[in-house]
Amino acid sequence: MLALPAEGREPNTPGWSVRVVPNKYPAFERQEVVVHSPEHVRSLAELDPEQLELVAEAWRLRAAAARAEGKTLFAGVNEGRAGGASLPHSHSQLVWLADEPPASKAERGDGCRLCDYLELERAEGTRVVEERDGLLLLCPYAGRSPFECLIAPLEHEADGFGSTLLGSALDLAAEALRRLAAAEGPRPANLWLHESGHWHLELLPRLTVFASLELGAGHYINTLAPERAAETLRRG
Ligand SMILES: [Zn+2]
Ligand SMILES: [Zn+2]
Repeated sequence: MLALPAEGREPNTPGWSVRVVPNKYPAFERQEVVVHSPEHVRSLAELDPEQLELVAEAWRLRAAAARAEGKTLFAGVNEGRAGGASLPHSHSQLVWLADEPPASKAERGDGCRLCDYLELERAEGTRVVEERDGLLLLCPYAGRSPFECLIAPLEHEADGFGSTLLGSALDLAAEALRRLAAAEGPRPANLWLHESGHWHLELLPRLTVFASLELGAGHYINTLAPERAAETLRRG
């Protein structure tokens, strides 16, 4: 249904770098799979910045298509079986939703909490992994599991899919996964975009299993302090 780079190519012809196909087993009414590379790669960590720009472009184009039909797009990446991946080949899932997802809505407050939070973290510094291209990569204070990462533009931007920084943000996520793999070995992970409010990527390596306390009470037992996680990822 979409192949990039576009240049007059029909979707089902060879030579594509990134392509989008319908999900054969959608959990929601409409769901698409973005295939991140014609090569058999298992992780975002194996993709170079140019390839990740094309992934961002695929997300952007499908988000525009969803908006044109009055829907909102949720973009997420599942890696490894513990991350819920349905196939080993690196891909993302695009789910067409009627409304903004509740998890993203719940982050809203008065003003922009993320603007204030990023400023605090940048000043504090101990949980910051990297600052690059106007983006901050950090291990958030209240992370749910070891090595949880947040990637966000330092300047307030309200449209993640429309941002020129989306590809760079995916590249920072890939960098975090590479450094995590260097420190701990390759790990299953989930990544998603919260595209409205102050847009950001959340990267959740799946090193622990969530049980009743986490799922039922919302209390996440994180055995690794975010400062330690950030220190490890800074070393890379
Ligand atoms: Zn903001
Ligand atoms: Zn979020």
